[in-house]
Amino acid sequence: MTRSTLMQYFEWYLPADHDHWNRLKNDAPHLKELGISHVWTPPAFKATGPDDVGYGIYDLFDLGEFDQKGTIPTKYGTKDEYLAAIHALNEQGIAVIADIVLNHKAGGDYQESFQVRRMNPDNRQESLSEPYEIKGYTGYDFQGRNDVYNDFKWHWYHFTGLDFDAAHNETGIYQIVGENKGWANQDQVDGEHGNYDYLMFNDIDFKHPEVVEHLKDWVKWFIETTQVDGFRIDAAKHIGEDYIASFMEFVRQEIKPDLYAFAEYWKDSEADSQSYIDGTDYQLDLVDVPLHMNFFQAGNEGQSFDLRTIFDGSLVKTKPDFAVTFVENHDTQRGQALESTVADWFKPAAYALILLRQQGLPTLFYGDYYGISGEFGQAAFNEILDKLLAIRQHHTYGPQVDYLDHPNCIGWVCQGDNEHPKGLACVISNADEGYKDMDMGTLNAGKVFVDATGHRQDTIQLDENGWGRFYVNPGSVSVWVEE
Ligand code: CA
Repeated sequence: MTRSTLMQYFEWYLPADHDHWNRLKNDAPHLKELGISHVWTPPAFKATGPDDVGYGIYDLFDLGEFDQKGTIPTKYGTKDEYLAAIHALNEQGIAVIADIVLNHKAGGDYQESFQVRRMNPDNRQESLSEPYEIKGYTGYDFQGRNDVYNDFKWHWYHFTGLDFDAAHNETGIYQIVGENKGWANQDQVDGEHGNYDYLMFNDIDFKHPEVVEHLKDWVKWFIETTQVDGFRIDAAKHIGEDYIASFMEFVRQEIKPDLYAFAEYWKDSEADSQSYIDGTDYQLDLVDVPLHMNFFQAGNEGQSFDLRTIFDGSLVKTKPDFAVTFVENHDTQRGQALESTVADWFKPAAYALILLRQQGLPTLFYGDYYGISGEFGQAAFNEILDKLLAIRQHHTYGPQVDYLDHPNCIGWVCQGDNEHPKGLACVISNADEGYKDMDMGTLNAGKVFVDATGHRQDTIQLDENGWGRFYVNPGSVSVWVEE
C-alpha cells in the first residue's frame, strides 16, 4: 500500500512558451519517485488566446489542434504533446486529472441580438431594467475547426447571461430573457450576490436540453480521446448541483465507472461543504478551503494564532474521505483573485499538516515545489518538500495520535505497523523553541530518533515504553524518525 498524493502541475504565471506538456512528460519519472499518484493538469482547451491560463475557455473540442484564437497550441502546447504527457504519466502508474471548465465560454465568434434584463451586480435577483435588446458575442461556429469531431453551434439561448453589451458598448450583468431562461435555481448554486450562477464571460445554461446533450457528446469524446482518469470541476459553486450530479452519473454509468472527481467548491464553511457533498450525491470530493484559510491565518498571525484550532472547521476533520487538502493553488498565489498566500515561514509546517497525516488527499502545488518567477514570485520549497514526500511514503502508518494541546506547540505521531514499523513524530511551533512528550508505541521502544527535516541536529532516545521528548526550533517544524 502506498499513500496517494496529488500534484497540481501548474501555477498562474507559467511562461506562455507552449512547452509545458513537454516539461510534464519529461518530469513523469521524477514525479513517480516523489510518490505522486495523481497529477492535476491545467485546462487543456483552446481559450481566448495563446497565453490564456485556460479558464477563458473557447472550444472544448480544440486541445491545441486547430488554428483558432490566433494559435494552434494552447498556452501549454499542442494536442499531441498533451496526449504524450498523459501517456508518460500513465506509464509511471500516475493518474491524470483533467481540469474541466464547464461554467462559461469566452471569445464568441460573432454577435447576436437578444433580449436581456440588466441585473444588480450585488443582488442578481433584482433587475434594474425591463427587457431590452442588446448584442453579445454569443455565436460560436468554430470555423477554424470546421465541424471536426462535432458540429454543434452555440447561440445566445444556450447561455443564462453575459457581461458585455456590444450594441451600447456597456458592461454589466445581463440576464438573458426568453422561454425557460433565468439563472439556475436559488438552491442549486451559491447564494452570494443573491444568486452566484453568473461568474464570468457567457454563462452556460444547463437547463437547456441541447446543452445537456451536447456536453454528454463532448465528455464521451474527451475521455475516449485523452484517456484521463479524473476530473477537477472548475467553478463548481456557479453550476447547479443537480446538473453536476447527473453529469457525473452519466460519466460513470456510460463511459468510465472509476473516474475520480473533485470539485473546486470555494467556500470557507464546513456547513456549505457538507451541503454540497449531500447535494451532489456523494459523487465528488471537495477542496478543503477552510483548512487552507486556517493555514493562511496561522501564517499571518504568528504566535498569536492558537495552533490547537488548526483543523477547526476543516473538511479533513469532519469529512476526511471527501477532503482534497492543499496549502496553495493557482488562485491563492500572489496577485490572484483569491489571494491568500500562506506565509513562507509556515509553509513547511502546513505541508507537514497535510502530507504527514493519514486523512485527506493532499495536494502538492507546482509553484511551491518549483518556485514562481516574476513580480508575484516566491522561492522553491523543493528541498523540504522532497523530505516530507519521502517521509509520507515510509512513515505515515499505524495508529495516528494527536497532541494538539498547546496554543504555540502541537504534535502528532504515527506509531507504525508491522508492515511499516518506522513511524514518525511531528512537532510544530509558531513561537519559541518547544517540545512535546509523545508516545511512539512499543514498536519504537528504546530507539534513537533524528529530525528528518534536518532542522535539528540532536538525537532523541525513546524510553522502554516508546515515549520520547521531541523538540522543535522556534517557528519551525521537525519530523522525528528512527535514525
Ligand atoms: Ca454558472
